[in-house]
Amino acid sequence: MTNVAIIRCEKNMDRCPLTNCFRCLMEKKEGFAIYEDCILSGVFTCRCPGDVAVNLSKILKTKGADVIHFCTCTFAEKTNEGWIAKDGGFCENIDNIIERVHKETGTPCVKGTAHLPKDYTIKTWD
Ligand code: SF4
Ligand code: SF4
Repeated sequence: MTNVAIIRCEKNMDRCPLTNCFRCLMEKKEGFAIYEDCILSGVFTCRCPGDVAVNLSKILKTKGADVIHFCTCTFAEKTNEGWIAKDGGFCENIDNIIERVHKETGTPCVKGTAHLPKDYTIKTWD
């Protein structure tokens, strides 16, 4: 059983209650299809400019998170053709933030949760 934590973006926190993130996690689909079995161990909200993500991740780790997923809406946006990553999502710095979290906490990270963009190959930091 893999304990999964999610970090979402403050820019979407009053618009999306993570419905599809949770659904995909429970059904092991999209970004969570890589697990045979997984359970949610916590959720935190990143705040700009993103420095807080490292400390939030340290706390998630102490709460048992084996891996941290960063929401798809941080790097992709919804269009008439579905979710696409071409022009980015809410965060222009998400890769650097994930890189820093991974380096400073030693926790595996995954970029993506629900509704992954077409042609997106899930990016992981192991
Ligand atoms: S990835 Fe989708 S479901 Fe998850 S917080 Fe962003 S918009 Fe909501
Ligand atoms: S740093 Fe990026 S992920 Fe964090 S709150 Fe700001 S835009 Fe969202």
